[in-house]
Amino acid sequence: MKILVIGAGIGGLTTALSLAKAGFEVEVYESSSEIKALGVGINILPHAIRVLTDLGLLDELLKIGVQTSELCYFNKFGQLIWREPRGKFAGYIWPQLSVHRGALMMILLNAVKNAIGSDRIHTGHRLKKCEETSGKVIATFSLKGNDDEFVEAEGEVLIGADGIHSAVRRQFYPDEGIPKFSGIILHRGMTTGKPFLSGSTMIMAGSVDQKFIAYPISDEIDENGDQLINWIADLRVGPDGNILRDWNRTADKPKLLSIFGSWKFDWLDAPGLIGGADAIYEFPMSDRDPLPRWSFGRITLLGDAAHPMYPIGSNGASQAILDAEILTESLQHADPAAALQQYENIRLPQTAAIIMQNRQMGPEQVMEIVAERAPNGFTDLYDVISKDELEGIATRYKKIAGFEKEELNAKAK
Ligand SMILES: Cc1cc2nc3c(=O)[nH]c(=O)nc-3n(C[C@H](O)[C@H](O)[C@H](O)COP(=O)(O)OP(=O)(O)OC[C@H]3O[C@@H](n4cnc5c(N)ncnc54)[C@H](O)[C@@H]3O)c2cc1C
Repeated sequence: MKILVIGAGIGGLTTALSLAKAGFEVEVYESSSEIKALGVGINILPHAIRVLTDLGLLDELLKIGVQTSELCYFNKFGQLIWREPRGKFAGYIWPQLSVHRGALMMILLNAVKNAIGSDRIHTGHRLKKCEETSGKVIATFSLKGNDDEFVEAEGEVLIGADGIHSAVRRQFYPDEGIPKFSGIILHRGMTTGKPFLSGSTMIMAGSVDQKFIAYPISDEIDENGDQLINWIADLRVGPDGNILRDWNRTADKPKLLSIFGSWKFDWLDAPGLIGGADAIYEFPMSDRDPLPRWSFGRITLLGDAAHPMYPIGSNGASQAILDAEILTESLQHADPAAALQQYENIRLPQTAAIIMQNRQMGPEQVMEIVAERAPNGFTDLYDVISKDELEGIATRYKKIAGFEKEELNAKAK
């Protein structure tokens, strides 16, 4: 069976690899003229690392990433609210990895090239439309941004893994419009700085209106004793502050420094990280409402095209990777339309629940609760929030997002 995968992001490439390994004929179509190592840091959770391990990628991933040992939440005064071990340090069979998105992309791209051959990865192909006719899917592409030149491709199934602005999704939902803006702008940067806490800790400080997130994405320590740290500074700008969704749009460093200037804690120097970044990128935090359906006959959606979500709980890329596994399994056991329906039946409700949870700030709710109840800080945390409340929020989110430890470990082959 020939399957057309539209989009060569983390979702599309993982899907192409997974399908090829299962014996399907795969062609990948990507609108960019070159698949580059773009982006900054990204977290991959143990449930998605399990899938990538089954695809034979774990050894390479361990070389490029940091095994996240713990996740800590603080208030804006740098007081600890919650600390939990992560990945293998928490007893999972698989690690949680903090990686450079570009490095992960290159591992996936090489694996796909080895599996299907470079000539089946068609860059410079922007999908314009797709339609199903008599047991086939016909996709029409414009070539290298030229809207006068079109080519067609034919397959038996088409997977729309073409991101939050998906052309495949737009075809089925033409009136949906632009993504829903949260009112928050994310400022993203990478800086070499002194290792903080365990040297492999992911931290979040503050609350939804102003938050700082940091985690190392390389184990290498340079001659100054520094390591590469990925950071994100969130700022609420209100509903009218939306900006164009462009991963390469640069931000105003002096303005950001003036806002985060006092966030210098004895365990982390946030203004130092902001000041030391070569480039800072700004990006709107947005998502889309869950859809009633993804699959239409032999065509379906996957990854951000299907379920774009706020980057809360480090789940976006991980959920795209989980989609790839279920889609492959479904196609192995049923005819195309039934398989795509089965994939949707499993994955749509799971990801819809995460979209809605992330709008309530997912596991980061604990930071909101503490900021509300103790806006000037606290002497004893448990006077503000009980241990049970803290643990309940963390446990509930893991269940919803599909990485509850016992359930996940039981999937080991
Ligand atoms: C350039 C870039 C940089 C990113 N950087 C970060 C980051 O630093 N940190 C982070 O957490 N997340 C980042 N992300 C987002 C993150 O990778 C995704 O949210 C997540 O991995 C889900 O992946 P996806 O494959 O579903 O979608 P995406 O990663 O968005 O991939 C979709 C792919 O489809 C292609 N495409 C779009 N329209 C068409 C079309 N009509 N025809 C053919 N191809 C099309 C796009 O060029 C893209 O390669 C980035 C995404 C991109 C595209």
